[in-house]
Amino acid sequence: MKVLIINAGSSSLKYQFMSPDTGDVYAKGLCERIGIDGRLNHSVPGRDKVVQDIAMPSHSEAIQAVLSILVDETNGVIKSTDEIDAVGHRVLHGGMAFTESCLIDDACIAAIEKCIPLGPLHNPANLMGIRACQAVMPNKPQVAVFDTAFHMTMPAKAYTYAIPYEYYENDDVRRYGFHGTSHRYVSARAVDMLGNPEHSKVICCHLGNGSSLSACVDGKVVDTTMGLGPLAGVPMGTRSGDIDATIIEYLMDRYGYDIKTMMNILNKKSGVLGISGVSSDFRDLDNAAAEGNERAQLALDKFVYEVKKDIGAYAAAMGGCDAIVFTAGVGENSIDMREKLVEGLEYMGVKIDPVKNKTRGVEAEVQADDSRVKIFVIPTNEELMIAKDTAALAK
Ligand code: ADP
Repeated sequence: MKVLIINAGSSSLKYQFMSPDTGDVYAKGLCERIGIDGRLNHSVPGRDKVVQDIAMPSHSEAIQAVLSILVDETNGVIKSTDEIDAVGHRVLHGGMAFTESCLIDDACIAAIEKCIPLGPLHNPANLMGIRACQAVMPNKPQVAVFDTAFHMTMPAKAYTYAIPYEYYENDDVRRYGFHGTSHRYVSARAVDMLGNPEHSKVICCHLGNGSSLSACVDGKVVDTTMGLGPLAGVPMGTRSGDIDATIIEYLMDRYGYDIKTMMNILNKKSGVLGISGVSSDFRDLDNAAAEGNERAQLALDKFVYEVKKDIGAYAAAMGGCDAIVFTAGVGENSIDMREKLVEGLEYMGVKIDPVKNKTRGVEAEVQADDSRVKIFVIPTNEELMIAKDTAALAK
């Protein structure tokens, strides 16, 4: 079976064409500047990358460009689009309607539309991707895989906000959590690596541009750091993470900001970029801090402090911890960050082996021999999870 994975944003569309069985990626790429002019970046393992300027007034032309290059004689990997068995779409917000992935039909689309107020930036773009695929491939099974779905096992005490209960009852205000497909992949791998015990307590740290942690008991999420939207939790590249809501009123009053300006500050100008004034990129911050930039160092210290606090919180919430997982750009690649994140957690039975920890981008166990808690580096593979769900539902 061969599956096309689509991750549609407002002006971009990422794709990956792969086998859900072996995980082999036949081709992948990105359509960017949709609605502006349009550019296709296409890569096939073992071949040179191809960049083409193609007019993309809407997502339909972008999908058409993807299909054309997949069957192109020179740059393609298949003879005909008949070889695409199904299409899987990454969808940001599934609200309370979706606890798992779903075969796309009219009812599924209506439910995704209903979630637009909860994911106002992403869900409309995801829907554009879905509709564009339906238009050019009307007979192919399509599947929606939600960023929120894996977190829907959280108990009420974890997902309920301490605000008037009617906002939950009437308006669906609750913690949802994101990066669910990544947390699902790495937590399942962690349980495998633990030897598939009957009971397991795993803390997953997805640390990239966006970051979130999840606490998973017996493979199911019991808590996660992101909330109604992906702004909550630990500080991120440009997102503030959790802050005192009083700050919002205080700054809006003081500077006469409207709510759009304020939210833009919290989403785009905060996090480690906001503290450092240098960059949202952790490698840039490492370099700046090494050159003596104190605010870059403070941004890194703040990130470590908050992630470490949440690791402690989740060990408390679960009554222990068998494994801590590091994944995504920072978690998979930053040796120094992993070392700092578990420094001082020896009292919890967490001890890293500094030599084993010198690893990047590959699956590894990096705890010391006498560490009670395992420390795993697990490269995430959200596309594989989407491909597997798509294949299972399309069958
Ligand atoms: P996204 O959320 O966009 O998928 P990624 O998971 O790719 O992001 O993570 C990107 C982040 O990972 C960037 O801040 C980048 O600097 C960081 N990163 C990648 N490699 C390293 C490394 N070797 N050391 C420190 N940070 C790294």
